[in-house]
Formats: sequence, structure tokens, C-alpha cells
Amino acid sequence: MIPYGKQQITPDDIQAVVETLQSDFLTQGPKIAEFESAFAQYIGCKYAVALANGTAALHLCALALDLKPGNKVITSPITFAASANCVRYCGADVVFADIDPDTYLLDINKVRALLEASPKGTYQGIIPVDFAGRAVNLEEFRKLADEFDCWIIEDACHAPGGFFEGSNGAKQNCGNGNYADLAIFSFHPVKHIACGEGGMITTNDEALYKKLLKLRTHGITRESGLFTNALDLAYGSESDNTAYPGWYMEMQELGFNYRLTDFQAALGLSQLNRADQGLARRIEIAQKYSSVFEKERAIISHSGLVNGHAYHLYVICVEKRAELYSYLRSKQIFCQVHYIPVHLHPYYQSFGWKQGDFPNAENYYRNCLSLPMFPTLTDEEQEFVIKEIKSFLNQA
Ligand SMILES: *Cc1c(COP(=O)(O)O)cnc(C)c1O
Repeated sequence: MIPYGKQQITPDDIQAVVETLQSDFLTQGPKIAEFESAFAQYIGCKYAVALANGTAALHLCALALDLKPGNKVITSPITFAASANCVRYCGADVVFADIDPDTYLLDINKVRALLEASPKGTYQGIIPVDFAGRAVNLEEFRKLADEFDCWIIEDACHAPGGFFEGSNGAKQNCGNGNYADLAIFSFHPVKHIACGEGGMITTNDEALYKKLLKLRTHGITRESGLFTNALDLAYGSESDNTAYPGWYMEMQELGFNYRLTDFQAALGLSQLNRADQGLARRIEIAQKYSSVFEKERAIISHSGLVNGHAYHLYVICVEKRAELYSYLRSKQIFCQVHYIPVHLHPYYQSFGWKQGDFPNAENYYRNCLSLPMFPTLTDEEQEFVIKEIKSFLNQA
């Protein structure tokens, strides 16, 4: 059986987890900070905050940016539902904008049209998604967002190691915080780096970073410099002490327990050590797919070879998608469809979104199929996948 995506667990990974299980800390220990600083270095940003999963990361981003009921945020219909759901967690409204049919990414021109059609201040933020691993040009989005006083959360779940080339020719890594206020990653097993469950927020903004640390753990701080209660209250009685007691902490706002455990962080760290190898193998697989699919006239479009693409997914669009999906399953090749357009889920239809709202996203959805794409996919397996796709396309 060949799936569309799969984690790789090496003896080093197992060793790292076992060592942490035998250490003093299962959670809130030193592996968290180690993972965060290694990840920040890998991405090229100042701060990273490890979290229980990517969805928790999105939720805390929205909270840290003070998203409130009645606010409006723009995102893509071609993403995992969580990119939109974080807006709803804060009681704000999700507004979708169509994708660019060539890149499958949120179309900046559609976003601009939305922003220009309403008074400034109508929208608070934009959540672009580096869908499939292809980097959004955030330099352009930043300019647009600044014109309309919007923040940007980059959903980079698909794109650790991905980048776009900025106008000055410099490489801009996905999640590096140079243009987005905050970026998020997921460490679900189908993603590049697996923790079981896990997530990360990256940013260059110190104030947001500090807010996130508090929100991650109940809104509680242990930093005495931030305490607001008087010393007497902290001791529970009148006191001559000039410092807060060792046990003291303050819950200053409503937060959550969205922490990652130390043994998950140990797994993430170990996986991060070979992230570049995994990415190189993904690019190799994409090269092979692209070289074959360029010659297949029955293929409407495909992910192709794009500089800076991190290839979480390799997508092809074909007319007979459902038939191809079933045919490949009969050959034990388990492809997947990413994604059912978010606006067409019954929950979002209940807000008035409907079929026909986003023709590019819906056309894409009609034809798209994500092919096997993971570092341990062997050459033989890929040859087999390609052979079966060709044989299906040429039998009609
Ligand atoms: C996986 C994913 C998420 C959510 O991450 P979890 O860790 O599963 O909560 C959010 N957005 C996108 C685009 C994803 O692929």
C-alpha cells in the first residue's frame, strides 16, 4: 500500500524520545526551549513557541492579535479548515477570497478587491496559506496589508524549508517573520516534521512572543517583573519582603493549556536534524513527477517545479479525478484530495457561503488529486505510481 504521505521514524528518533522519557521532565522541561531555538534557527526568525498542535498555534495567533467578535479576516478556501476555524474561535467572521488557478494560492488581486470594496478598518487580518508547500509572496501581501492596517498570519504548515524570492533577490523563508506578523507550523505525521501532534508559532515580534508564552499556559506568568499584585497580597499577609515569594505566579488573562510535551519536542528536534534531507528528497520526487506530467496532455495542471516549493503535496488536476482516484486505489495507491473547499463545508455554508462563490477553488477541487509524496517513497514505488497514472490516462 502506498499512501500520499507518511512519517519517517529512525533509530535516532526513538533514542531521543526514550532518553527524554528517562529524564526528569516529560513536559515543561528543557527539550521545549531546545526545539524552539533550533526551529527558529532553521526558519531564520527570532522567536518560536512550541504548541500542542497547529490548530492551537492558529488559535493563539488570533488571540495574540486581539481578534474579536465582529472582526473580519480573509483566507483561502483551499486549505485545511483550521486556517479559517481560528477566526471563529475568537467569534470573528471568515471572509474567503478565491485562489489563483495557476499557483493554487490565495489570489492577492481578489484580496485587494475585497479590501478596496469596503471602508478601511472593515478587515483586521489576512491568513495566506503556503498551500502544498508553495510559498506565498508575503512581501506583496505585506504592502497590501499595510495599506489597509491588516495583520498577517502565515499558515506555513505545508512549507518548512520553503521560500520565495523577494524583490531584492533575497531568499525569504516561509515563516521567517520578515513580512507576516506571525506564522504557524504543524508537526502532524503527514507534515515534514512529525511530533505525533505538535505545532509552532514563529515571529520576530517580541511583544507578540511574550503574549504567546502566557497564552500557551493559562495566561499565567512567573516573571516577577510582570506581576501586578502587591507583595502583601502575594504573601497572603503583611510582609517586609522586598521580593515576591518563590511559589508566586499570576494569571493575568484567560489562556489555555496548549503545551507540547518534552518527549514530543525531542522527536521534533531529532526530525528537524534531517529536515534538509527530507526536503531534498521531496524535490527529487517532484522533479520526476514534473518531467513526466509535462508531456501528459490529459493533465490539466500540476504542482510543477517551482523554486522554493517545499512539496508537502504534489497535486495533479485531471478531468476524471474520481475515476483515477478509484483506479489507483485498486492498485493499492492511496491518493488524497486536498482540500474540500472550506466554504462548502456545511458549517461555513451556514454563514451564507455557497457553491459558485469561488469558481477557481471549485474548479480546482473538481479535478485535483494529491499523489504520493514523502521522503521514504522509493524510486520503484514512484515509477509504479507514474506507470499506473499513465495507463489510466491513456486507456480512455
Ligand atoms: C495540518 C494543518 C493545520 C493544522 O495543524 P494540526 O497540527 O493538525 O492542528 C492547519 N493548516 C494547515 C494548512 C494544515 O495543513
